[in-house]
Amino acid sequence: MNTPVPDYLADLLRNCKAAHGGELADYIPELASADPTKLAVALTTLDGVIYSAGDDEHEFSIQSISKAFTYAYVIEELGLQRVMRKVGVEPSGEAFNEISLDKTDEQQIKPKNPMINSGAITVHSLIPKAEKSCRAETVRLFFSKLAGRELAFDQEIFHSEKETAFRNLSIGYSLRNFNILESDPVEIVESYVKQCAINVTVKDLVNMMSVLVNDGILPRTGERILSHKTVRQVLTVMTTCGMYNAAGDWLANVGIPAKSGVSGGIIGVLPGQVGLAVFSPKLDRYGNSVRGIDIMQQMSRDMGLHLLEGVPSSRVIINDHDVKQIKPEVIVYKLQGVLQFTEAERLLRKLQDEKQCNHTIVFDLSHISLVNDVGRRMLLDGIDRLRADGHDVALIDPEHIIPDAKTDRDFEPKIYEDLEQIPD
Ligand code: GLU
Repeated sequence: MNTPVPDYLADLLRNCKAAHGGELADYIPELASADPTKLAVALTTLDGVIYSAGDDEHEFSIQSISKAFTYAYVIEELGLQRVMRKVGVEPSGEAFNEISLDKTDEQQIKPKNPMINSGAITVHSLIPKAEKSCRAETVRLFFSKLAGRELAFDQEIFHSEKETAFRNLSIGYSLRNFNILESDPVEIVESYVKQCAINVTVKDLVNMMSVLVNDGILPRTGERILSHKTVRQVLTVMTTCGMYNAAGDWLANVGIPAKSGVSGGIIGVLPGQVGLAVFSPKLDRYGNSVRGIDIMQQMSRDMGLHLLEGVPSSRVIINDHDVKQIKPEVIVYKLQGVLQFTEAERLLRKLQDEKQCNHTIVFDLSHISLVNDVGRRMLLDGIDRLRADGHDVALIDPEHIIPDAKTDRDFEPKIYEDLEQIPD
């Protein structure tokens, strides 16, 4: 049997090829000569398996997609607090290259977020600078590590943008004027432009993203690259600010933390599930790839990826008919689905009906698919409360879904493999 995913991706591209519209970016002269027919899509699973279709070997400059990864790098190097002092996290609702600075409560001026150019240039300036090497080189090495291959600068794109980077230079000077940049703005802007000129394919992008999907651990090597906190921060700003001034539309229609770039790439990350990348060079008026948006929308719909779709929580974690008195003194609660706050609260509410006596209450967890930390703590707390009412408590937990089952009062419930093991 073959997995249907590659066929699905190929079908997506086939069905989308008809969608035209949009224009090639021309404010970087070299981008105007891109081949508008190129179309590619790639997907990474949580465990780092890559699927792709279309022009998946075609290289293009990463442009603004780089902003998300450089932000992650800098937070990891300096700590979130130091980065937050320089760049905020408020959506700007303006074009990406707006000279936009925000006055915070403390009357401190700083770029609104790291996904617009003023924020991204500031973030770039925070990269610790190795002697005799530009910051862009540090970024290139970091991106290469994530991609699992040596990435290169596109010199033509770099020079083409550098020679016309008047707007980014004026942003740089303005940032320097407010002391947000602490050294030569020309050098920083040039190095930032070079960061944007790193060449990638859609496969590189999903490889890079796998670290965000997998909570900071690169699945290919098992190495932790980013902390949980960094990943959460990056995904947060991608959600609110990743799609330029179309972020609201994107969140409503696609609902995946994302970042796009003016060369025509878009990445989308659903933590714990998938990473997606698309490429098609023609852009809409906000600077987002027209066919890229179309494909992302389709994938979000087909795969049920919208962030606010909610975890398919088993609302029926506990049905009345799943509470059974299997022996005179033994009551079994058969739980199913996921055990998070909502379900644990329901369970504990139901347990309020248990009279004070010396029954044994058994929680059968063999049909639970996931327990998060809150669910675990609430279950263990419930066990202490049941014991305070005189009950004994045991678990059926063949998969050890509750590791280290020990309550705050140091009680360790007996754990059985199945119902048969429960003594009279
Ligand atoms: N290098 C481009 C710039 O800074 C990137 C813009 C983008 O992809 O949004 O103007």
